[in-house]
Parts: sequence; C-alpha cells; structure tokens
Amino acid sequence: MLALGDDAVLREQIKALQSTIKDVNAADMPAGAAYHYERSFAAFREPVDIVLERSKCLLQRLQVAAGGGGAVAAAPPALDDTEDAAEWVMELLDDVLLRVDLAADAARAALRAPAAAPRADVGMEAGAAASVATAGANCAPRRQWESDSAEEGRRPQDAFEVAVDNSSAPFQPRADHWPGFREAAVAAGSGRLGAHLQSMGASAGPPHPLEGVLRSLRYPAWQLQLQAPQPPRGLDQAPLTYVDTLDGLRAMAARMGACRELAVDLENHSYRSFQGFCCLMQLSMRAEDYVVDALALRSHIGPLLGPVFANPEVVKVLHGADSDMMWLQRDFGIFMANLFDTGQASRVLQLPSHGLAHLLAHFCDVKADKRWQLADWRVRPLSQEMLRYARMDTHFLLYIYDRLRGELAKAGEAVPEHLRVALPPGGPGGALGTVLERSRQLCLTRYEVERFHEAAYLDLYRRSRDLRFSPEQLAVFAGLYAWRDRVARERDESTGYVLPRAQLGRLAARMPASRQELRAALNSDGRRSAALVLQSALGCMFASAAEAFPASEEARAAVARLRAQMIGTEGVSPRLVDELWTSSQTFCPCRCPCSFRGLAGVAREL
Ligand code: AMP
Ligand code: ZN
Ligand code: MN
Repeated sequence: MLALGDDAVLREQIKALQSTIKDVNAADMPAGAAYHYERSFAAFREPVDIVLERSKCLLQRLQVAAGGGGAVAAAPPALDDTEDAAEWVMELLDDVLLRVDLAADAARAALRAPAAAPRADVGMEAGAAASVATAGANCAPRRQWESDSAEEGRRPQDAFEVAVDNSSAPFQPRADHWPGFREAAVAAGSGRLGAHLQSMGASAGPPHPLEGVLRSLRYPAWQLQLQAPQPPRGLDQAPLTYVDTLDGLRAMAARMGACRELAVDLENHSYRSFQGFCCLMQLSMRAEDYVVDALALRSHIGPLLGPVFANPEVVKVLHGADSDMMWLQRDFGIFMANLFDTGQASRVLQLPSHGLAHLLAHFCDVKADKRWQLADWRVRPLSQEMLRYARMDTHFLLYIYDRLRGELAKAGEAVPEHLRVALPPGGPGGALGTVLERSRQLCLTRYEVERFHEAAYLDLYRRSRDLRFSPEQLAVFAGLYAWRDRVARERDESTGYVLPRAQLGRLAARMPASRQELRAALNSDGRRSAALVLQSALGCMFASAAEAFPASEEARAAVARLRAQMIGTEGVSPRLVDELWTSSQTFCPCRCPCSFRGLAGVAREL
C-alpha cells in the first residue's frame, strides 16, 4: 500500500527519472545499429551504462515506493527495450490511480455511513406540501445511494423483511392475504405435470389467484353509465398525505375501501437491483392524493391494499399498466380485477400520442415535467419537487378517465382493426368494451423472474447490430454474459450495473490482453464503474482463457498462473477469484470441446 510518508520519496524518484530522460534526449542518442557501433567506444559506453544503471535503480525504487507487489508484481523489465519499460511504468501508474479511486470511494462511503439515523415520521395532512421541505431539514441527512460507488453502501433491499429471490425458480408471489393461495401454489408445483413443466424450464408457478374472478368479470352498472366529468381540484386545494407509517397505511386503506374509483401509479427503481423494486405508490381518489413510501411499508402494502385491488366493485385507473401490473405482483403480491387503462383508451381512440403527458396537456392543460421520470426514487426524504411530480401522475387521472369514457362513448363501435379483440358476451361492446377487455387481459398476465437461458447471449448478439464476432469473440461474449447474469442475481444488481452492454460488447470485441487495453475497453465511455476492479480481474482471466483457444497444457497453466497472481491482488477478494476461476473453465476447450465447436458452428450461421 502506498503509505502517506512515501509521497515525498515518490515525487523525488519521479523528478530524478524526468531529469535522466531529459539528459538522454539531449544527448541525441544514436539508434539501432549505430547505437551498437558507438557502444564499442568506452567514451560512449561508460556514461550510457551509468544512465542505464541509474534508470534501472529508479524503476526498482518506484516499484517499492508504489507499494510493490500489487497488480504489478513483476520486476521492472530490462532496459534494452524502452517500450517495455514505458509500458511497465504506465501499468504501475494505472495501478496507483486505481487504488486512489478505490480509496476515494471507500472514504466517500465512510462519510455517508453515519446517515442511517432513525427516520423521522413525515406523515402529512392537508396542504402540507410546504412542510415537506421543513421535514427534510429536520430529519436525518438525505440518504443517497450513489450509482457508481465501489462500496456497496446501504441499499434499501438490504433492509427488506423478506429477502429478494433472484433465482430462476417459478415466481412465488408474496400472497399470504389470498386464502388458499399457498395450498394451490404447492399443488401447482407438485404432481407429474408440475414436475414435467419444471423439467422443461416452463412455469409451474401457482395459479393466478383472481383467475376465476377475472374469467367471469362483471362490471358494476354505475361504471357503464355515462356521467359528467368531475373536474379535479387544483393541486393546492386537494389534500396530500404522505404515508410512511403502518397507521397511516391502515387509514388510507379504509378510505380506499369506501371509494368506487382509484387512480394508481408506481415509481420503480431498477438500476441497483436485479428485478427492480417499487419505491413509491401514488394513489388518488376524487378529492385527495396519497403518496406511499413503498420501501418503508413494503411488507404491509399487499395485506392492506390487496383486497381493494382485487375488488371488482372498485375501478382502478392506471396509465399504461403493463409494468405496474408486474410490479404490484412482484413486490406486494397484489393482483387486480377491474382495471381501466387510460393508455389502452388513448390507443383505441387513436390519439396522436399515447403518453400521459399528452393526456395531461390535452384534457387538463397541464404541462408534465418529465425531468423526474428517471429520478432515483429510493432517496428519502423526497424533495418537494419529487413529491409534486409523483403526485401529478395520479392527481388528474380520474378526470382524464371521465373524459376518455366520454370519447369512447362517442366512438361507439369504431375500433381500429389491429386493436380488436373478442369481447366477452354480456359485457359492454365497441370502443369502451375493447378498452375494458384489453385491460382485463392485462390483469391476467403473470409476473415471472427472468430466467437465465444458455443461449440468451445470442439474442443480445443478434440484436446488437454493431457487433460482428469471430467464434472466439463470441465465446468470450457468452462467458461474460453468463458471468454477468450470475453476479447480478447474487448481488441483486441489474446486469447493466454489473457490466454495461457497451462494455460487454467491447470486451468481447477487443479481448484485451493487458491491463491497459482492458482499462481502455472498460473506460472509454468515461464511466467509472463500481465494479471496475472486479471487471479488471475478470478481464485478465478471460483474456488468458481466450488465448487458450484452442486448448493447450501451456494455456491452462497460464490461466492457473493468473489465478495465483490475482489471489494476491489487492482489492480482489478470494471469493471473486474463485468465481472467476469457475467462469474461466467455461472458456476452456479441454473441459467442453463440444460447446466450443457448437459455438463456432452457430457463429458461422449468423
Ligand atoms: P411512470 O409510469 O411514468 O410514472 O414511470 C414509472 C417508472 O417507470 C419510473 O419510476 C421508472 O422507473 C420507469 N420509467 C419510466 N419511464 C422510463 C423510461 N423512459 N426509461 C426507463 N424507465 C422508465
Ligand atoms: Zn406508471
Ligand atoms: Mn409515475
């Protein structure tokens, strides 16, 4: 490790080296054959040898000052090849800089750590938007989860009561609030059919708990009667309640149960999580808005709100519910009956744009501020702007629903050809019936954890028009892809966080053979990846593994040597080395000649 006291020493060394280089340059050195000729004269040879000796000594001292060992374990090279020497110095500097990065990350993480103070209750009542700002000032410092920290930091999911399961096993919703659900789930997974489905990699998950309700869904009569649109109250007049306590959630659930129509939206976080998780749930009734802290209340939302979502006597209005439907099942075990998707309505009505922003502008004369759409919704407390943005997503939605129903009634039987679906007998027909039926179909979809497929990398490869790989490159791509998936699941990070697609492609394309090439491949988009060290280590490993194509005893020995080297590398945990070691075996043709030949065949077909 570079001790602080060594700093002055190191600076001295560098200065001495610089002056030596200057001397050598000033001497107008002969090169090649001329150099060797000149060396036969003592008047030339002797001072040159003094400089060489001095340079060698300086390099060694540089290595000692920089901590020795480390990633640059090799001794300084002989000085007859100046390019080798230059490369060696560069690697050494890279190594020092990398350690500076890591130390800075660790220091930043340490500074953030004390922020985990008890959370102030910021439950609010009417017109409390202003108090949000003051609440922020009184309670614990802002908990931020930086996107690019080498240190894991505290992530919300690390505090979830039920740990996230990222395995490819059939998804089991957390649905204790569905009577008989668990029994049905067990039955579905057992028995010969269940076992057979599972062996084929198909879902043998539990049935949809609302399947029966949804198959025979009847809409309440009042829902199908046309009513005058109810204009929304202004944002300043309607009360906003921020819910982050169990009591608050209970009170909200009671109010919800007494309502006929609810507007709902969710804010999700997906970068620092494999499957993603909901951070907020926004809910609007006709005259009041709620924003629920879905992180703080994660395990209570399903049991308390699930029944209202499942109740076909309450219309749930969402805009573009495809994702929300999956998120509700995934995080809360919530399933829905009686959905009206305003996104489906805008399609059936063939509005010029299907985004919520268009509906807000068109029906409410409100300009949506989409700046916050990709905000980090894990942050607590939320800023006033974020809260305002989140609330806007549902505040006007019931009025938009009223207006859309009016338009659908006007449209009558007119439904664009490509959106037509068979409508259940006895229900509403035409444009309105189509919207409701398409919404009902959405309710029948089931959440599944994305599975890992051996050939999934090929899909990504085919989709990436910029990638044209040799069989060898494709093999590296496959190995990296599998590694990335596994690490992402284990650490509960997105695959994009572990290794962005651009870097994945670049690594496979270039197959870097040195640390410098590797760093260039990883960093050329300027991104300081949190997993840089991990990736570097991986890069070394797979670079040499790729060399082992085709296999040879020497190549395997080289991989083993690299492994030994990595075990001593600072910042690389032994566990990671083992992980990578296992990954590297997949590249090794001695272990799996068939898969390599298979890959080569596939690559030729592409
Ligand atoms: P919204 O329905 O617009 O409120 O978006 C809900 C969630 O979807 C956000 O919290 C984001 O996690 C995600 N999201 C929305 N828009 C985008 C986008 N353009 N790209 C990626 N994620 C998005
Ligand atoms: Zn949404
Ligand atoms: Mn939203």
